[in-house]
Amino acid sequence: MSGNGAFKALIVGGSVGGLAVAHELRAIDADVAVYERSTGRTQARGAGIVMQPEVEALLTRLGVSASSVSVELHERQQLHTDGRAALYRAPQLMTAWDTLYRALREPLAPVCYRLDSSLRTVRVDGAEVTAAFTDGYTAQGNFLVGADGIGSMTRRLLDATSQPTYAGYVAWRGLEPESALPDHLLDLLSGRFTFFGASGMQMLCYLVPGANGEREEGSRRVNWVWYVNVEESDLPHLLTGRTGKQFTYFLPPGELPPETADQIIAEADTSLPPQFAELVRLSDVFMQPVFDLPPRRMVADHAALIGDAAGTVRPHTASGTSKAFGDAAGLAAALRDWTPSQELPAQALHAWELHRLSRLLTLAESGLQLAARSMLGVPEGGQFFRSEGSLGEPG
Ligand SMILES: Cc1cc2nc3c(=O)[nH]c(=O)nc-3n(C[C@H](O)[C@H](O)[C@H](O)COP(=O)(O)OP(=O)(O)OC[C@H]3O[C@@H](n4cnc5c(N)ncnc54)[C@H](O)[C@@H]3O)c2cc1C
Repeated sequence: MSGNGAFKALIVGGSVGGLAVAHELRAIDADVAVYERSTGRTQARGAGIVMQPEVEALLTRLGVSASSVSVELHERQQLHTDGRAALYRAPQLMTAWDTLYRALREPLAPVCYRLDSSLRTVRVDGAEVTAAFTDGYTAQGNFLVGADGIGSMTRRLLDATSQPTYAGYVAWRGLEPESALPDHLLDLLSGRFTFFGASGMQMLCYLVPGANGEREEGSRRVNWVWYVNVEESDLPHLLTGRTGKQFTYFLPPGELPPETADQIIAEADTSLPPQFAELVRLSDVFMQPVFDLPPRRMVADHAALIGDAAGTVRPHTASGTSKAFGDAAGLAAALRDWTPSQELPAQALHAWELHRLSRLLTLAESGLQLAARSMLGVPEGGQFFRSEGSLGEPG
């Protein structure tokens, strides 16, 4: 079953965490196969990603320099409501989900990466793991890794008790070609990490590589995120697409109904510095509500969870991706030298779980503190985007 490899790993979820664990397990000689629910990989999911050391380390091992997949920033600036900016020096590399995905996916060309594969059940029989997918396909291996994100089916199958809970705010987002922006906005935003904060909202913006990884001026994209407090009862309305389709964790680009777009522009004109309001107006806005998924277990019989499937951190730490990469590297270290004819290295897996849960809790705590500083998800912060019929006044 494991070919030339030490063992065969079935990886559920083919986003950046799934690809990172595929590389890490291949490096210890495992055969890997990746099963991804999406039918295509073209969505602007995840948008901008701040380059972090764990991501850089894996890219370096793949022969890819972090700077070759990033846009370099030199400064940070805080915008005030009246549009004035306070600047300070802070060099940083910014990449994007699709740029990183491509850098990780290309070297995995020989590996099985099956799209349209939504996990339905997992069965463990000795050292044989069978994953069954909703289209009737089944796959056999010796170890299963759940890298299937916040709504993880793997997690539900292994640990039915924990559920994501809404954090009290959403992220309106945009990812626009820089060529679509007027010069005065580009002059302000280019080369800088720009922030704005007010009670119950925070907005940030930076440039990332273009849709095909371009880094040269004129071909990059402008990535922005506007965190805003929204009552849970208003979520279903805001997560309804323009054709009436109901979304749960992500309202994709192109789905924003015109009346919500008008509401967003009106709120941006009222609450944001004029430059950010203009940016919102120019963008094809999409949305991600922020959820907390508290961690519980990461290891089960011949299976493990990594990345968001294991537990989430608030996006303000900019470390969700790097946490997934750290989980992946540690899991491979724990499984090094294991072959399916042996008992699982239970001690090493347990040590990995403890170490990664502790890292996750530290990051989660820091994310909560950063959110609280902007009154995000706290009752004292304002509430925005109330739908008709909601109780209370707009914040
Ligand atoms: C608003 C916002 C901003 C963020 N900004 C940043 C940032 O700047 N930097 C950063 O590092 N992180 C950021 N994050 C966090 C980051 O997006 C995640 O931590 C990261 O994407 C985790 O990767 P993952 O591979 O674990 O999960 P995901 O990227 O969620 O991938 C899970 C994959 O599993 C697939 N899948 C789901 N269910 C199944 C199934 N049943 N069968 C098969 N496949 C399945 C999905 O289609 C998906 O491809 C942000 C998050 C939010 C909400």
